[in-house]
Amino acid sequence: MSEYNTGLLPGPRARQIRELRGIGTVNIQTPNHIIDAKATLEGRPSRAEAEAAIRTLLRWTGDDPDREGLIDTPARVARAYEEFFAGYAVDPVDLLARSFEETDGYDEMVVLRDIRIESHCEHHMVPIIGRAHIAYLPAGRVVGISKLARVLEVYAKRLQIQEKLTAQVANCINDVLKPKGVAVVVEAAHQCMTTRGIHKPGVTMVTSRMLGAFRDDASTRREFLAIIGGQRGVAEG
Ligand SMILES: [Zn+2]
Repeated sequence: MSEYNTGLLPGPRARQIRELRGIGTVNIQTPNHIIDAKATLEGRPSRAEAEAAIRTLLRWTGDDPDREGLIDTPARVARAYEEFFAGYAVDPVDLLARSFEETDGYDEMVVLRDIRIESHCEHHMVPIIGRAHIAYLPAGRVVGISKLARVLEVYAKRLQIQEKLTAQVANCINDVLKPKGVAVVVEAAHQCMTTRGIHKPGVTMVTSRMLGAFRDDASTRREFLAIIGGQRGVAEG
C-alpha cells in the first residue's frame, strides 16, 4: 500500500513499535509511515549553511540580500523554517503513549472536529491551509483529545502532500491506540494551486482515510460524516 511506502528503511522506530505491540518478529504490515524522519536531523546542514542558501535564493530572485530590508531575512527565514518544520523532531507515537483505560465502558465514537491545519506542500514548499476531523471508536482505551490534535500537528509540520498527511495521522492512531476504527478527513487549500500555477482560489481538496469500523460499517461511517458535515465550511487559504 502506498501509505507504507515512505522510502524510509525500518530502524529503531520500527523496533520500538514492535516492542510496543509486544511483537518480536517483523510484520509485513510494519508501519513504516511511523518511522519518522528524525534520522534526517542527524547530519543536517548548520544554521549558517541554511542562511547562506537563503541568501543565494534572494540573489536568485534578482534582489540584493545586502540591502537594509533584506539583511536579516536569511536568519528570519531560518527561524520560520524551524517553526514550520518542527515536526521532524517529534515522535508522534510518543504523544499517544499515555492512554487511559478508565472510561466507564465508553465505547461510542470520539470526534475532534474542525482542527486547523497549517502545513507545507513538499513539491513547492508553500502553505497548505485547512482543517481536519479526526474520529476513533475506542476499544477500551482513550487518549487525551489534545493528543490527537498534536499528532496531526506533528505530521503537518513536515513537508507533506495531503494524501500522505491524512493516511499518516489515521495509521498512527490506529497502530498505537488500536481502536475499533479510525477516520480522518482533511479539507485544505493548497497555495501552490491558488497563488501560482493554475491560480484557482477557493478550491479545496478533500481527502479521507477510514479504518476498521469506519471502513467496514456503513452506519458508523454515516454517523461520523453527519457529525462533521454539520459544521463543514470552506477552508481558508
Ligand atoms: Zn505544491
